[in-house]
Amino acid sequence: MNLVITGANRGIGLELTRQSLARGNTVHAGARDAAQARELTGLAGASGGRLHVHALDVASDESVRAFAAALTGPVDLLINNAGLRTRRDDIEGVSLEDALQMLQVNALGTLRVTRALLPRLRETRGAKIASLSSGLGSIADNTSGGSYGYRMSKAALNMAMRSLAQDLRGEGLIAVAISPGWVQTDMGGSSAPTQVSESAAGLLAVLDRLTLPDSGSFFDFRGERIAW
Ligand code: NDP
Repeated sequence: MNLVITGANRGIGLELTRQSLARGNTVHAGARDAAQARELTGLAGASGGRLHVHALDVASDESVRAFAAALTGPVDLLINNAGLRTRRDDIEGVSLEDALQMLQVNALGTLRVTRALLPRLRETRGAKIASLSSGLGSIADNTSGGSYGYRMSKAALNMAMRSLAQDLRGEGLIAVAISPGWVQTDMGGSSAPTQVSESAAGLLAVLDRLTLPDSGSFFDFRGERIAW
């Protein structure tokens, strides 16, 4: 299976890459600063040529265009993992520049990459597009407020996935939003209850099981449905 994983140089993206390689897959891994992505490139040695590291800034049209042009052959699974969460995001403190940047990366970045890779995804019947969302992007689940820029960006991402599911269903392509849980990464922090290995294994297991009727859904890493 050929995978594309964005934001693969650290955190959940790095672990998804590691586990996908261990499963025997070929991975095209995107990193904003590929030259600095030492842990990621360190995986290449044991991969037998199955790991391809690419420079990829999902916020840049030019970078995404160059990345898409460098890919040949079918893509079976695109994991839009790259994401950004800035620190101060409450009503008093939210910086609108930061909020715009989160929209740019989390929502528009996902749309930009997915659109650029559609020709590659269309080469596989039943190809899957999975975007890392968050419970914080659920309107139904929002009983605690706050996190303006991040919540708005993930809610926008969710809407894009829902539209993609409708638009691509007739061609047999599957599009979902998926939450990794609260995970111990730079973003999730050290008090998060879920180890990155557990989250990534759960995400990959859920993605394995997806069929066309699941398209347009929002799952967590255990396969439970999350209300939009
Ligand atoms: P990290 O902050 O640990 O890693 C984020 C990754 O995204 C890094 O590789 C970073 O690259 C990359 N990235 C950021 N901006 C860009 C960009 N413009 N172009 C390309 N790559 C970019 O986050 P996690 O691993 O924890 O999160 C992964 C995903 O899961 C995100 O979408 C996040 O929103 C989501 N998520 C995480 C949760 C958690 O508890 N950890 C909870 C819910 C959702 P660089 O090193 O260059 O900055």
